[in-house]
Amino acid sequence: MAAPSECPVCSLNAVKPFLDRGSVPVHQNLLMKSAADARNIRRGRLTMHVCQDCGFVFNAAFDAALMSYNQDYENTQVHSAAFNTYVDGLVQSTLGEAGVRGGTIVEVGCGKGDFIKRLLAADEHARGYGFDPSYIGPASECGGRLKFEKQFYDASCADLKADIVVCRHVIEHIAQPLNLVRSVRTAVAAAPNAHVFFETPCVDWILRNRVTWDFFYEHCSLFTAASLTTLFARSGFAVQSVKHLFGGQYLWLHAMPSATTPPWTREPSETPDMAARFCELELQRNQHWTQRLRMLSTGGKVVLWGAGAKAVTFANLIDPECQLIQAIVDVNPGKQGRYLPGTGHPIIAPESLVELLPTSVVVLNPNYCDEIGSHLAKLALNARIIDLMNDETHPLESRR
Ligand SMILES: [Zn+2]
Repeated sequence: MAAPSECPVCSLNAVKPFLDRGSVPVHQNLLMKSAADARNIRRGRLTMHVCQDCGFVFNAAFDAALMSYNQDYENTQVHSAAFNTYVDGLVQSTLGEAGVRGGTIVEVGCGKGDFIKRLLAADEHARGYGFDPSYIGPASECGGRLKFEKQFYDASCADLKADIVVCRHVIEHIAQPLNLVRSVRTAVAAAPNAHVFFETPCVDWILRNRVTWDFFYEHCSLFTAASLTTLFARSGFAVQSVKHLFGGQYLWLHAMPSATTPPWTREPSETPDMAARFCELELQRNQHWTQRLRMLSTGGKVVLWGAGAKAVTFANLIDPECQLIQAIVDVNPGKQGRYLPGTGHPIIAPESLVELLPTSVVVLNPNYCDEIGSHLAKLALNARIIDLMNDETHPLESRR
């Protein structure tokens, strides 16, 4: 494949590769019915590049034709109490920052509609429209206040005159993010006071914390606060603010349409340097984790908590032959009884740990350590929680 010459966000030609993984599962959240199906999942190449001018990070080898976000795609996180608390706060931030009540709310890429339903529950006079070409479900909910449209949100939707447009965890899946944001800009052409909110992972957080398992195929476009600002400015938006949420892991951008194309500046900051350092240490990090899991598994059974994207990437890198990790625990009943994409590790309910009796519970996202601690306490299990990102060991006793 020819090296890319141009950054998809700022269009300047100063992009450099920093991470190459030859054969990774293209999906992290597909429900796999057997271990064999899981191991036979479609694979692709990860060739992450960083723009030296704006700090945007992208997979230059991404092939959208390999992706299929169908009914077997399951990434609902609403079964986690910690995540629910986070989303409740986000509902209040959205309505509070916009300062609009009883308006028209649009969600772009609404999935099953969980978030827009919560927005309408918090604002009982608002009307809502959920857009998602792969939406499956009733055409209308919330007593008719919420409608779902199986299409893209684009110029054909301009007559909706949206007051609030929300798009959460979609843009990192899009190889040409300028097209998506410009399409939203044409959709709000007749709504100059629309408040537009985008949420997406922060790649600076991933690089700074050296979170190896946060680079995976589905996320072909990863932003810094600066590159996200550049993207919106180039698309005809005035950026109001970009905040860090969820312990710094996510970016939350608030923008409004601008009559002119605002000037945009290039601010790569420290991202290219951090990317170069990340690359140098990739091999040592993987060896370190393998060694750590080998040590833990000599003392008893090891399970991983959370069958999401992070676990899929980690298990494929560290335990592709299913020799170190016994099972993956997930609170989402839709994932239980299924198998982890790429490796075929079984996915089990927390209650199943009572029979498995693990000695170590490995956690990849520190935001869930407390919630997992209380699950284990309820089950009267004495396993140690290993917060792998911070590489610490918390005896359960210390969390009571
Ligand atoms: Zn760039």
